[in-house]
Amino acid sequence: MPRCPDCDGAMTRIAYGMPAPPLREAAERGEVILGGCVAGDFSPKWGCIPCGTLRAEKEKQKIMEQVIDRLRKSRAEAEGGGAGILD
Ligand SMILES: [Zn+2]
Repeated sequence: MPRCPDCDGAMTRIAYGMPAPPLREAAERGEVILGGCVAGDFSPKWGCIPCGTLRAEKEKQKIMEQVIDRLRKSRAEAEGGGAGILD
């Protein structure tokens, strides 16, 4: 079993294809990762559950920051445009 380059933990096998009930149960126990129905040439065979979760959280945070940043910018633009009237 390969070890995670990030956290040095044991990696988990990624299973592709339609998850049969035993596979689904194994995924719930954290023994396999369900990779989706279709495996491509570059689909990873091993994944790290703790790092995968961490990465997903980081991605989510990044997207949230981008949304907030965009909102802040559009608000600044709106306020900048209306500043002359308010003064
Ligand atoms: Zn890891």
